[in-house]
Amino acid sequence: MINKFRQGSAVYKCQCCGKMTRDTGEGEKSCEMCAGCFEVSGYFNSFQDGQITAAEYNKIVEQNMDRHGECSCSDRLEVE
Ligand SMILES: [Zn+2]
Ligand SMILES: [Zn+2]
Repeated sequence: MINKFRQGSAVYKCQCCGKMTRDTGEGEKSCEMCAGCFEVSGYFNSFQDGQITAAEYNKIVEQNMDRHGECSCSDRLEVE
């Protein structure tokens, strides 16, 4: 699916949580995600790189869920 949006502050749909959102300049638009989901996906990469622990990642997911509810990136990791 190709959407042709003009550069700027066009509104688009987050591919993760399905909410309409706007680019805040953090690069989330290229992933078609809202700022919250983009943040979580960024932290997931940090977790995979070993920069944060699963527990820290889960905390970020919970904070994001408080802000905009449950979505595809709300899955928490198993903490041993
Ligand atoms: Zn989202
Ligand atoms: Zn999400």
